[in-house]
Amino acid sequence: MKTVVIHAARDLRVEEHEPEKPGPLQVEVAIEAGGICGSDLHYFNHGGFGTVRVREPMILGHEVAGTIRAVGEGTTGLSVGQRVAISPSRPCNACTYCLQGQQNHCLDMRFYGSAMPMPHIQGAFRQTLVAEGWQCHKVADGVSINEAAFAEPFAVTLHAVARAGSLLGKRVLVTGCGPIGALCVVSARAHGAREIVATDMVDEALAKAREVGADRTINVVDEPDALAAYSANKGYFDVHFEASGNRRALRSGLEVLRPRGVLVQVGIGDDVSIPLTMVVAKEIEIRGTFRFHEEFGLAVDLINKRAVDVKPLLTAVYGLGDALKAFEIAGDRTRSMKVQLSF
Ligand code: ZN
Repeated sequence: MKTVVIHAARDLRVEEHEPEKPGPLQVEVAIEAGGICGSDLHYFNHGGFGTVRVREPMILGHEVAGTIRAVGEGTTGLSVGQRVAISPSRPCNACTYCLQGQQNHCLDMRFYGSAMPMPHIQGAFRQTLVAEGWQCHKVADGVSINEAAFAEPFAVTLHAVARAGSLLGKRVLVTGCGPIGALCVVSARAHGAREIVATDMVDEALAKAREVGADRTINVVDEPDALAAYSANKGYFDVHFEASGNRRALRSGLEVLRPRGVLVQVGIGDDVSIPLTMVVAKEIEIRGTFRFHEEFGLAVDLINKRAVDVKPLLTAVYGLGDALKAFEIAGDRTRSMKVQLSF
């Protein structure tokens, strides 16, 4: 089977690997769609992010869906020919965090395509993947396999919403309208937000944010003062999802959050300084959000039931032969929102 392997920054190869056979309670899935994520792009462009480096060849990818080709002994509820979205979250279910229901903090997490541990956890950009049955969530008839492959990034934003608390009737700011920021808009809308304002530096990204539910978008380059207007009377927004990892976006959010507002940091960036006086005086809560676990099933359900529409965010699908081109295009924000590979 063919796999998409990162060796070092800008060294991406399509390589042959021996396929595996499903063991008890496992299934073999022919992967059909795989979304290229910001972290995959970091591995591709920079060989990693933060302190995480690619130290050995690693199959990329963790946003995948496909069709079951074989089922292992004892597998129930799944059958050959069924289409499934596969959760890349593989916690140990035995460590102290797992036992507290915080599987995203598992001490022995085996999240697909992660260079955090050594040896690296091999990813899911491959023609066939052997997964545990419990990782697989059925895709409804009429839902495309490409939509199903959005379950993973959508789950990231559903977890971000869970970290924010109730959004019912709340005014929400989203800074950074890449796929995760745009999906924060989708998730906030689905959770009853009253008003959603989204910012970015790229018009094409902002157009997509409007398409999936933002009430207003602001290009912070073209309209540098538009967001600042919301800082009157100590602020306007109840919740800020910061999905850019940019220090100015973080700072601008603190300025326009109302007292006791919540800032959920979704994007990863460099270390930043924070105006503590503003945090203290407005009693702002800054919360991190990291991956997801149980939200994956919810993400698939919402996509299956057409409660949300992620289709506008898919900008291109490339075959494995064009994997390199797909990664190049995926990194160009004026041309791409979500790029997927087909296998
Ligand atoms: Zn664990």
